[in-house]
Amino acid sequence: MKLNGTSSNTPLDGNLQNGLPVNGKASYGVTADSEELIDELGDAHGSSSIDTPMRPGAFDLDDELKVDLIEEHFREIMNILGLDLTDDSLKGSPRRVAKMYVNEIFRGLNPENKPTPTLFDNKFRYNEMLVEKDILVQTYCEHHFVPIIGKAHVAYISSGKVIGLSKLNRFVEYFSKRPQVQERLTVQIAEELKKVLETEDVAVVIDAKHLCVSTRGVHDVNSSTITASYSGKFAEEATRQEFLRYIAQTSATL
Ligand SMILES: [Zn+2]
Repeated sequence: MKLNGTSSNTPLDGNLQNGLPVNGKASYGVTADSEELIDELGDAHGSSSIDTPMRPGAFDLDDELKVDLIEEHFREIMNILGLDLTDDSLKGSPRRVAKMYVNEIFRGLNPENKPTPTLFDNKFRYNEMLVEKDILVQTYCEHHFVPIIGKAHVAYISSGKVIGLSKLNRFVEYFSKRPQVQERLTVQIAEELKKVLETEDVAVVIDAKHLCVSTRGVHDVNSSTITASYSGKFAEEATRQEFLRYIAQTSATL
């Protein structure tokens, strides 16, 4: 079921009657084979594009209307699961989830929420790499819609401009607030920093735990996933090794 700007106030389409699929699985066009394939694709965590796949007209609806529509649909999901939506503890959940999706955890889908970088001249003539490490990453697996939690380490070598340190955190946060695959998140952060800082000399490493791996499927609570993007001077062995040494060091404590 797809929402679009004009037909979006139709609450739910004809596949559902009284909260149940009309023809069982067949109404969704899913067979046993394709379900297996869907699971496998979900585990592969691959992605075909740097850009988050968005449909045309993604921002035709304003945020308030998106919250209202998601609330309606999430109530239906809970209803289908058999939950009693008159229960005091549950009745507010559809709206809570809808507000969380639009205003918090997926707010990075909207380019209006992208941080505006404040750049300064590199007056100190600081020509070495700057590393911001252990930046908190809280994003959401786009295959299972559960959290991916970890750390990002980013570095750049100034081409004449420097950026406020907190903006590095803000860019990591912005691209994290989307349904993501870790590979794409890594590349999106790197590409944005290259553009903003007008340099190719950028490195991004993310080390994260996927709750879709730890709390379901293979239930592996120990594994973590590391992704990296090295460009410009960071593609050279010596520079890359220096960066990796810094991120391996014990951090300063307050
Ligand atoms: Zn997943």
